[in-house]
Amino acid sequence: MSLVDDARSGIVTEEMRTVARQEGVTEDFIRRGVAGGHITIPVSPYRDVKICGIGEGLRTKVNASIGTSTDIVDIAMEVKKAKAAERAGADTLMELSTGGDFVEIRKQVIANTTLSVGSVPLYQAFIEAAIKDGAVVHMKEDDLFRITAEQAKLGTNFMAIHTGINWETVKRLRNQGRHGGLVSRGGAFMTAWMIHNEKENPLYSEFDYLVEIMKEHEVTLSMGNGMRAGAVHDATDRAAIQELLINAELADKAHAEGVQVIVEGPGHIPLDEIEANVILQKRVSNRKPFYMLGPLVTDIAPGYDDRVAAIGAAMSSSYGADFICYVTPAEHLALPTPDEVYEGVMSSRIAAHVGDMIKLKKTREADLEMGHARRDLDWERQFQVAMNPERARAIRAERMPADTDGCTMCGDYCALKIVNRHFSF
Ligand code: SF4
Repeated sequence: MSLVDDARSGIVTEEMRTVARQEGVTEDFIRRGVAGGHITIPVSPYRDVKICGIGEGLRTKVNASIGTSTDIVDIAMEVKKAKAAERAGADTLMELSTGGDFVEIRKQVIANTTLSVGSVPLYQAFIEAAIKDGAVVHMKEDDLFRITAEQAKLGTNFMAIHTGINWETVKRLRNQGRHGGLVSRGGAFMTAWMIHNEKENPLYSEFDYLVEIMKEHEVTLSMGNGMRAGAVHDATDRAAIQELLINAELADKAHAEGVQVIVEGPGHIPLDEIEANVILQKRVSNRKPFYMLGPLVTDIAPGYDDRVAAIGAAMSSSYGADFICYVTPAEHLALPTPDEVYEGVMSSRIAAHVGDMIKLKKTREADLEMGHARRDLDWERQFQVAMNPERARAIRAERMPADTDGCTMCGDYCALKIVNRHFSF
């Protein structure tokens, strides 16, 4: 029995109890959420992980994506990134290598994290075909499904699978065109394969088989976003909406079969289209957990894209997105370093919290505590409430004032000290 089957039969599992405790909600709220497809708890029969719930009524979760490229293959570095992401407080990790020994990299990353790990199995299928047969378009359909099952057996908890790309989606991509092209690697591989082979996407045409694999290995199916905009001027276009409609329908089908699902979203979106994207996604997917990739709200700040994405992520979370894929400062420029992974996770965690302050009012308690600690010049309490206490401590310690009550920002003219002498709040 899968978690969905248990939930439907009225069984509250240990995983549901854990999420209820973490989130401060009732166990039955979680059970009903899993049964209805509004909450997902990525698990794996092959590995114990730090349990985290994703979906309606829960804190917004943050994913960190790591992985090699064809240019930089350094397994030790990927393990460092996995550890940096976990140290920074990521809720999940996606291992998205496109270079080197896929199985060995994934094994080592999985062995070095307690987080749920996600993957995109088609990367391996397409890239192995390119190495063996000279081009990604020679990928064999059987290999795609075989690799999906093999990755599941390594203890992969969730998989982004590009089910929503079919001939209708490709037709809409063609007839509207794009300012920023197609930026999803999975989307590009699959579109090229379909056009070259004049065949339907096997992940769409053989969806029932894919669902069987997901169910057998209890993998959460993340409906991939291969048509996401890579430029704000392409946001909410026909191809993206077409893919969303297909993914939403397939997500219902997979969940009906007892598979946990997440629906992915864009991409690059200007601020004034984020609310519409969240409402649309939630509405057409019947309130499935929404995995927002960023979104980046401007295209002109390379080097700072973690902050650009944090603005979009805060807004999307406030409107109801449940799960955010982080962006690092190296986005659009290079493969990130472990330090950039750490920075990216922190930026996304801040965004998730800011969104949750609107979405789940109860999460404002920490801000209230910080307000009081600052008013009282209680530095120890401020560090305890801080999202990154080490960083806050280090900055203060480096530039301590002569008088330890205030700080070197205003020195002798510390507003709080002056008023606290004459006024009691
Ligand atoms: S010195 Fe200025 S910044 Fe520092 S605690 Fe006092 S009021 Fe705040």
